[in-house]
Amino acid sequence: MSTTPQDLLRPDILAMSSYHVPPAAGLVKLDAMENPYALPGALKRALADRLAAVAINRYPAPSYVRLKQLIREKLGVPAGAEVLVGNGSDELITMISVATAKPGATVVAPAPSFVMYDLSTRLAGSRFMPVPLAADLSLDVDAMLAAIAEHRPAVVWLAYPNNPTGDCFRRADVERILAAAPGLVVLDEAYQPFALDSWMDELSRHDHLVVMRTVSKLGLAGIRIGYMAASPRWIAEFDKVRPPYNVSVLDEAAAEFALEHLDVLQAQCARIRDDRERLRAALDAIPGVATFPSRANFVLVRVAGATAVAAGMRERGVLIKDVSRMHPLLADCLRLTVGTPDENAAMLEALRGALAGR
Ligand SMILES: *Cc1c(COP(=O)(O)O)cnc(C)c1O
Repeated sequence: MSTTPQDLLRPDILAMSSYHVPPAAGLVKLDAMENPYALPGALKRALADRLAAVAINRYPAPSYVRLKQLIREKLGVPAGAEVLVGNGSDELITMISVATAKPGATVVAPAPSFVMYDLSTRLAGSRFMPVPLAADLSLDVDAMLAAIAEHRPAVVWLAYPNNPTGDCFRRADVERILAAAPGLVVLDEAYQPFALDSWMDELSRHDHLVVMRTVSKLGLAGIRIGYMAASPRWIAEFDKVRPPYNVSVLDEAAAEFALEHLDVLQAQCARIRDDRERLRAALDAIPGVATFPSRANFVLVRVAGATAVAAGMRERGVLIKDVSRMHPLLADCLRLTVGTPDENAAMLEALRGALAGR
């Protein structure tokens, strides 16, 4: 008899389910916070030329000097901070989780928040301590401070704005967490292009602050690039955990190209911010639908029978994210990504239809 996975593998991994991505073919895809806009045609052709010139027979130069230089110049990394690039910010989360996983280490994050904090922490072997948000989905800062005092966490994760709830935590609350935390505080600014608020400038004031960002929500989810900025002495250690060729030469070249044309992506994000406000107003006008404030490119709504509503929307050709079973605080909640004006109109139509058809 040969060895089975059940014999050999970690019981916690055997008990997990894989990250599920629902099929989206033929649907209006508004479930994953993607930028709905493509690059203009001329830029696409220039990008194709750039990629054609890349030496794909060579390994990447593992220092990513030019990409990091562009990130510094274009994305506002302060002078004293160092930068580390990851294969998406998911990989950065893994690096921090692995590097901090001393025996008995604990990690704290609000809940609900980005699922990868929990997953990465547990895979690395540390203990994950979720701290529920308040009922209105704001940060329960007293509960956070109590958890920090009790568990002395190696890492506190704060998504700013938070996913899947959409808003930024109050800056004063984050300051209190920074003042109390004995370990690292990571501000995950994946939605910074829509929030126009950042902790980057605070890096010089707090040695234990790490600011993490990604180009995914900016419009480049398909090229997997994330980056973190922190004091050089932290980055030097995290760099040891990074697989040396973690970003492909094609991703690197595409990211460099995109950053050289950052104004195009930023204009798309400005459009999405405007449309988010229009979408929220339209959603609030639908009887039985309540929106939460958002500074991201999605809107969280609460609607009775959310799972049936999501299914009804899918039947009407629109895919959104049913988060109602992710956490008790998200009962009857759906997460709607802001798309193009046409996509948003289709989403509203599908939502109205699904509500009428219940
Ligand atoms: C989407 C998201 C990420 C993932 O970013 P990638 O760079 O695509 O891996 C990270 N953090 C938060 C809070 C997100 O919502």
